[in-house]
Amino acid sequence: MRGELRKRSTSQIEGMSLAAEAGRKKKSVVPSAQEPAAMLLAWYDRHRRSLPWRAPPGVAADPYRVWLSEIMLQQTTVRAVAPYYMRFTEKWPTVETLANASLDDVLRAWAGLGYYARARNLHACAQAVVARHGGVFPRSEEALRTLPGIGAYTAAAIGAIAFDAPAAAVDGNVERVITRLYAIEEELPAAKPRVRAEVEALLPTARTGDFAQALMDLGATLCTPKKPSCILCPWMQGCAARARGDAESFPRKAEKREGKLRRGAAFVAVRADDHVLVRTRPEKGLLGGMTEVPGSAWATAYKEKDAVAAAPKFPRAVAWRRIPGVVTHVFTHFPLELAVFIAKIPAKTSAPAETRWVPLAHVSDEALPNVMRKVLAHAVDGRKTRIARR
Ligand code: SF4
Repeated sequence: MRGELRKRSTSQIEGMSLAAEAGRKKKSVVPSAQEPAAMLLAWYDRHRRSLPWRAPPGVAADPYRVWLSEIMLQQTTVRAVAPYYMRFTEKWPTVETLANASLDDVLRAWAGLGYYARARNLHACAQAVVARHGGVFPRSEEALRTLPGIGAYTAAAIGAIAFDAPAAAVDGNVERVITRLYAIEEELPAAKPRVRAEVEALLPTARTGDFAQALMDLGATLCTPKKPSCILCPWMQGCAARARGDAESFPRKAEKREGKLRRGAAFVAVRADDHVLVRTRPEKGLLGGMTEVPGSAWATAYKEKDAVAAAPKFPRAVAWRRIPGVVTHVFTHFPLELAVFIAKIPAKTSAPAETRWVPLAHVSDEALPNVMRKVLAHAVDGRKTRIARR
């Protein structure tokens, strides 16, 4: 099966073989880099990105660091991840140290990176690696996939990068490159099995970790969503989409159905001694275990005139002031609009049930999701909270 795929893919990028043939005629030395994978690896050896989590050439990658970076990079850019990765590895240099950390500390360190279920799974995964595998990441994709937060892509990426396993790590970047290379007309996500099969067929017999990273780099640096730099691409000669001149139109995608807009209210209670009222969200569900200011439910049928009914209750009546404008945030499944209310609360007022006062100067150390950072930035002077308006 695999042999067939390899044969099919190699013949489909026939242009590369022809180019290789031309190269052979021009030069007396025929580099082995004429095979598609070898061509890509040769390009990678010259142009690989230097990333904080990437082992230097010839040095074995640390599975813990590979795993940590891959979890952080899910749905997040390299630029946003880099400082978090540095902080995490400084604070928790091994999987054991991360497993021994409290979930709250992990959520705090993760705050701002988004998709918080990843942080909870990260912690659970570290504990599972220690408890079930003696602190050593398993090598097989199958065993990796039994760990919390590790899906097909992450298992393949860890398998390839950390253990040089012949694994096809297919993320969005790789889908873009492969659908262009073969001009795959089928829409994503239906085209996923075909893309994966093509990657499997291209896998080299050695350096599969470098191949996986090379493919990621190609997608991130040359085969970009807009204006791909085909002229610099090691696969330019054999690329079907480039030959047709419509590379940017790939991958074909089924139309996304956007979730309905939800609305809600957020209540920023600031005590006279510069403390703000917060609470912890339930462990399960969206933004589970994160910190938020009290608020109403987020609903499509939200009515602002009823909003104040959801405000926290204090012993004395409170005058809530509606701050003009709204805070907007887009979650994976729905966009959100929050009306923000603020009130001044007398010093020494106790916190209502299931809430707590936090000094404004330390609120940015809380496990605040981005939407709550936006709410606080909208309501309170950033010099007091150390939270910048975005
Ligand atoms: S030739 Fe262009 S479209 Fe094709 S893989 Fe390379 S960068 Fe992408």
